[in-house]
Amino acid sequence: MRDTLRQDQDPYVTLITPKAPVSTPTHGGRAKCLQRLIRLELPVPRTVALSFETVHRIAAGELPDIDRILAQFPAGALLCVRPSSEDPDWGGPGSILNIGMNDATFVDLSDSIGHAAAASLYKRFVMAYAIHVARLDPDVFEEIEGVGQEGLSEALRCYEEEAEEPFPQDPAVQLAEVLRSMARAWEGTTARLLRQAKGAPVDAGLGLIVQEMALGLGSGERGSGVLQLVNSETGLPQVTGRYLSQSQGREALEGGPAALYLERDPRGASLEELEPEAFQALKDYAAFMREKLRAEMQIEFTIENGRVHILDGMRVKRSPRAALRIAVHLAEDGIISRQEAVMRVEPRGLSELLHRQVDPEAARDVIGRGVAASPGAATGKIVFSSSEAQASAARGENCILVRRETSPEDVRGMHAAVAVLTERGGMTSHAAVIGRGLGLPCVVGAARMGFRLHDKILITEDGRRLREGEMITVDGSSGQVLAGAPAMIEAALDDAFHVFMSWADAERDIGIRANADTPADATTARNFAAQGIGLCRTEHMFFEADRITPMREMIFADSPEDRKAALARLLPMQRADFIELFRIMEGMPVCIRLFDPPLHEFLPSDRAGLRDLAEALDLPVSDVTRRVESMGEYNPMLGMRGVRLGIAVPEIYDMQARAIFEATLEASQEGAPVVPEIMLPLVSAMREVELVRTRIDAVAAAVRNERGREFDYSLGVMVETPRACLRADEIAQHAHFLSFGTNDLTQMTYGLSRDDAGRFMSHYVQQGVFAEDPFHRLDPEGVGELIRMGVERGRRGNGGVMLSICGEHGGDPDSIAFCRSAGIDYVSCSPFRVPVARLAAAQLAIRDKIG
Ligand code: PEP
Ligand code: MG
Repeated sequence: MRDTLRQDQDPYVTLITPKAPVSTPTHGGRAKCLQRLIRLELPVPRTVALSFETVHRIAAGELPDIDRILAQFPAGALLCVRPSSEDPDWGGPGSILNIGMNDATFVDLSDSIGHAAAASLYKRFVMAYAIHVARLDPDVFEEIEGVGQEGLSEALRCYEEEAEEPFPQDPAVQLAEVLRSMARAWEGTTARLLRQAKGAPVDAGLGLIVQEMALGLGSGERGSGVLQLVNSETGLPQVTGRYLSQSQGREALEGGPAALYLERDPRGASLEELEPEAFQALKDYAAFMREKLRAEMQIEFTIENGRVHILDGMRVKRSPRAALRIAVHLAEDGIISRQEAVMRVEPRGLSELLHRQVDPEAARDVIGRGVAASPGAATGKIVFSSSEAQASAARGENCILVRRETSPEDVRGMHAAVAVLTERGGMTSHAAVIGRGLGLPCVVGAARMGFRLHDKILITEDGRRLREGEMITVDGSSGQVLAGAPAMIEAALDDAFHVFMSWADAERDIGIRANADTPADATTARNFAAQGIGLCRTEHMFFEADRITPMREMIFADSPEDRKAALARLLPMQRADFIELFRIMEGMPVCIRLFDPPLHEFLPSDRAGLRDLAEALDLPVSDVTRRVESMGEYNPMLGMRGVRLGIAVPEIYDMQARAIFEATLEASQEGAPVVPEIMLPLVSAMREVELVRTRIDAVAAAVRNERGREFDYSLGVMVETPRACLRADEIAQHAHFLSFGTNDLTQMTYGLSRDDAGRFMSHYVQQGVFAEDPFHRLDPEGVGELIRMGVERGRRGNGGVMLSICGEHGGDPDSIAFCRSAGIDYVSCSPFRVPVARLAAAQLAIRDKIG
């Protein structure tokens, strides 16, 4: 070593020593990690760190003193340069290895490792330099076929021809050019956009590491590899990695170290060639790093004459399920706290554990894209109707229900299918809401595919025609539709999951309930430890075939008598539904929302449906058709919906209230006392609440009288129109609770149809009109302001009012953060999103506690 870098001489270029001023925000995560390893006295080769500022200057043409950097290393040493950004996920230019290779080193190396092996090493450096540093045409170099001396000569000749100058021999020139090209690559537009997409700030910096390759010229065992102590996919303890010996001649060297540094996937690897002592030393180092750096680490190492050098340590790549298990094991071993373990798993990643997923390693033949409306993936044969779906299920064949959009008539088909794909719709359309409730993967709004339902043909985005019965895969986590049957990975609700979630619950300070309409939903909600049902959409209870007909008869009834008769048929069904829900929930709160059907959802839409209804009503088809037309609304979502139906046709709510109260008495007799919560949808005026409340109180009094038994209930209001937010103070005076229906509130605040938004939402998000689909992530500015107003006014009107949200946003981590900050008591979301919500809420509480 000719000189020693003095920190005070150049604050931007730092030899990493235990005390050197190196930090992640100035030098990047890799530099900091290497310093930690050096502090732990691990055998790390000499390393110099270049700060963000230095690299920024290099990109602007101002080089540091290259000779002084080289002076840190033994004369003739081979060096590598690697990126060190603040967060490894932000990427960075690829590492460049073996800097310093030139004609003279080649001669020296030929003596120690053999001529052919040295030639191959030199050739690879020339090629990497040509392509990544001098930016010459990669095709020219990739076409070089010769091996050994011949290949090397060809590479050097190509370089000279393309670059119009000989390959640089001076290590200082090589290093300077490598630094310059890596610094410039970081500042390029594509790289910047890519990292910004991963959350990097606009001015994210890049540090660079210059490190000795630690492959001396000795003739003993030499090689390099990676090693970690866990499986990246499962998180289970398993020593995995790869080692390539370079003492084994040319073949190993050919495919060797470059590949090692570039791709870190340890699968398919072999550590068998390692000497037992070196292997043991590496495992000990990895365990030591796990304990001291408090994370599972992957070690990148070289071995030289039996001596291990640690070139780098980085957190192991891990799938969400591995992240969870690793965090639990670290906490169980006392290395990190439970709170820290809870913070280490990304809530959105959790949904991958709850559903089958396409194996991330599997090849994807993407044939369409839409809104990722319900997570998980499933493979099946294409069917185009609900009845075909049921027939397919009866044959024991998995099928994917492909529809333009779904309606109540499709619910049976949805039950029978393993996934749903629709042309239209968004996050809160029928298919999406039902799909999430059933835990059924669902992609909606795939409008760029062709849906030729009559011809039973699905046309892929690239024009391929798929017929009924062909196999496709719906990936509701990514919104992609794939051809064929890629490999899948199963859901992982194991012990580690339950332990982890119990730690999260211990921290959480807002409640999490589930939206559940059916016994299956309620059971899922219980399994995922929801603290009650926050929304039971009673209209969903009438989608089954045996119920839709009496429901339609009720809607069509001309006279109060006819309506009464239809309602009398519906009452026992509703009562039985509620008894079952109360039983499953065992005394937990159950919030039942009275009918909120946009009526058209219950009207037949095609000739066959009209004929069926005519038969049931014993009327001519023409009569039924006329009545359906007369009931048609220009805009059903803003028409005779929700409490408006309750005011205009009060017998419906009377029947539902009776069913709820009778079920309450019955279920309370068997187990924990039930206190039902009854909720009124689409309220916009206080008077609506007063009117309905008077009738419901009267029904309660009647049932108490008839049965001679007491029960309690509470009455609440869905705040889902802008006016209800504005008038929340007076509305709250008549309500025990207010629940913000953020689906409708978003629709009405934006004036944006929730059923049609899917068609253009991607344009809006791509062009930055909306940062995110507002049906997916609560808009904190507009809709959020209305909610804050509603919270504040509601509490002013009734200090004891309980506040919640039950729109789909209840399962989205960012929206939960908003709700918590707005002072909401609990959120309610689809059952399968409950764990995500529990974890997101726990992390918010922990963040507040630790400041
Ligand atoms: C809402 O509008 O947010 C809501 C929960 O009700 P629905 O989606 O049934 O209209
Ligand atoms: Mg609503």
